[in-house]
Amino acid sequence: MAERFDRIWHNARLATVRKDLPDLGVIERGVIAARDGRIAFAGGRSDFPSDADAAERIDCSGRWITPGLIDCHTHLVFGGNRAHEFELRLKVESNDFRGDQTARVFRAARALGLPVKLHADQLSNLGGAALASEFSALSADHLEHTDEAGVAAMARAGTAAVLLPGAFYFIRETTKPAVELFRAYGVNMALATDCNPGSSPLTSLLLAMNIGATLFRRTVAECLSGVSREGG
Ligand code: FE
Repeated sequence: MAERFDRIWHNARLATVRKDLPDLGVIERGVIAARDGRIAFAGGRSDFPSDADAAERIDCSGRWITPGLIDCHTHLVFGGNRAHEFELRLKVESNDFRGDQTARVFRAARALGLPVKLHADQLSNLGGAALASEFSALSADHLEHTDEAGVAAMARAGTAAVLLPGAFYFIRETTKPAVELFRAYGVNMALATDCNPGSSPLTSLLLAMNIGATLFRRTVAECLSGVSREGG
């Protein structure tokens, strides 16, 4: 009996960002099939049952389909009109939590079984990447000033790097995150908007990808995987 789906998109160019495929992990003439509101198949036409049945079929005529984009670092919820903060742009990292205070918060989180993330080494190297790694943080974010020891610690701990090129651009930072080191050590690199009114007033992941490629020299495949596979 023919397998039944609710909807089939065919003749699509799939950007799978699968790790076992090069670059974007492109599958030409790809098929996506959905059933009960979920993707039940995504792959090449040759792997899809030729007699599959569906209520609706959509010919994508070679158009791209990418994974759903994930913005994994935002400050989207904020009160009132904080547009004046863009004028101020006064966030000073040393006035935030000190290392020992952060460690106290992280120890409390660990005792409660909560995973942690950290804004780290944005304006200077305060050892944030190493601290995040010590607590097996899900991610350390920003990382413009992280050195090789910090990158190595992240690699050992499996802590992902979330790079935030919007903040880099809007505060006119000049030190770039060590993308080559993250690559060399195999640290997963996500990418996000850091959407907030003071230092990164953007909501567009496409713009974040653009700045990530242009200013951080991340490849197109790294930018797309950074807002999909690595951002999840
Ligand atoms: Fe942030």
